[in-house]
Amino acid sequence: QDNQFQAIISHAKEYGFVFPSSEIYDGLSAVYDYGPYGSELKKNIRDYWWKSMTQLHENIVGIDAAIFMHPTTWKASGHVDNFSDPMIDNKDSKKRYRVDHLIEAKADQLKEKGEEKEAEALLASMDSLLAAEDFAGLKQLIIDQKINCSVSGTGNWTDIRQFNLMFSTQLGSVAEDADTIYLRPETAQGIFVNFLNVQKTARMKIPFGIAQTGKAFRNEIVARQFIFRMREFEQMEMQFFVRPGTEGEWYKYWKEARLKWHLGLGIDASKYRYHDHVKLAHYAKEACDIEYEFPFGFKEVEGIHSRSDFDLAQHQLYSKKKMQYFDTEINQNYVPYVVETSIGLDRMFLLILSNAYEEETITKEDGSTDSRVVLHIPPKIAPVKLAILPLTKKDGLPEIARELVDECKPYFKCFYEEKDAIGKRYRRQDAIGTPFCVTIDHQTKEDQTVTVRYRDSMVQERVLMSKVKELVMGEIL
Ligand code: ATP
Repeated sequence: QDNQFQAIISHAKEYGFVFPSSEIYDGLSAVYDYGPYGSELKKNIRDYWWKSMTQLHENIVGIDAAIFMHPTTWKASGHVDNFSDPMIDNKDSKKRYRVDHLIEAKADQLKEKGEEKEAEALLASMDSLLAAEDFAGLKQLIIDQKINCSVSGTGNWTDIRQFNLMFSTQLGSVAEDADTIYLRPETAQGIFVNFLNVQKTARMKIPFGIAQTGKAFRNEIVARQFIFRMREFEQMEMQFFVRPGTEGEWYKYWKEARLKWHLGLGIDASKYRYHDHVKLAHYAKEACDIEYEFPFGFKEVEGIHSRSDFDLAQHQLYSKKKMQYFDTEINQNYVPYVVETSIGLDRMFLLILSNAYEEETITKEDGSTDSRVVLHIPPKIAPVKLAILPLTKKDGLPEIARELVDECKPYFKCFYEEKDAIGKRYRRQDAIGTPFCVTIDHQTKEDQTVTVRYRDSMVQERVLMSKVKELVMGEIL
């Protein structure tokens, strides 16, 4: 499985999906750049989310708030005081680790050895110690489990301490009396501080939601597993404002609706599971994760959180501005409650890649075998929808192919290529996940038909060239 994950990482780089950031300077840890196909795929996932939120729900509107926010925002939200993780240092290797990551890694090792029960028990002990903030107990657990990350293998640990994950910088000239501000560690606060602006200008009535996508920054200590845990990443968040007392039913609604969104991409339901939280974040009333089975195990891809009136009430307190809503149905003023859905765009990207990647062995008609690497990306989010390939470079075939490109490219992303044998060109499209290829050959000149070749089944059929655009449109909407 580790091999498969390494293969996915190499493939992502080789085919222009994801590059290490500033690679010519040997990269920057846990920061990545998206290449030509990666940026298309990422944009398509973002658009798919945005559409499902703001177009398919009449009571959800979007915003695009700034990354920099007034520093008091993060006092009010609790991030200055609470957005930290318990860390422990290994005295021999001088390396620092997040406590939960160390213990989770140990649990993964146990699972690999088939000791499922022991692994579950270990995670359960960790959860309850974390919930009680029992750092001495957690350290003892690390020692008892013989977790050691030093060369000598002694497991010589410091005490556990809390480290804040926010990046800070200076607004204005550093020499002057500059204010310390933070790079936002989540997009949600941009929504909360704009609650009244949006509610009034868009004339929203409770229950309603505000959606936003954008960059967030966290100084993650253990940043590994490729784009699963990054220091700069993108979130897609939606805060749903409800009447107090109705949050339970809305929490249930969004928990189900979000899983449906994932399954709507045609991903197998057995790859997903819910994980209800025992240890709740400082703002949460009820919380769960949607987990996906990555090549390195079931891990969180999205969180659904019932946040009560925590955030709006805190902003009301710190800003001294009323964060209230007048509910005409019950003739009452109140601070709304919030149910949030929060998903990492990069993590969803990794999910799509992991789910799509296949090294397939193909048995040909004569019994011989061949192999291909194919990305089974759902057509509606595939970076390129249609490859248009003239069989040869002459006899007017490129001109006909260009006509089809011109017809289709205003509607969806096309790719034109005339170099190399057709089989080789198909393989390259398989590797970037293009769901449809069309070949223009000599017969096209006679009967206006082309060969459509389907990525997943590799089936080929002849179709009127005038029907190609419609055929593709039918699969990508
Ligand atoms: P984790 O436990 O993995 O650190 P979290 O519970 O802190 O995540 P949230 O604060 O709930 O995560 O953020 C919501 C979503 O944002 C997560 O489900 C994940 O998809 C994404 N996310 C959070 N941190 C990162 C990161 N460092 N890199 C990439 N995506 C992230």
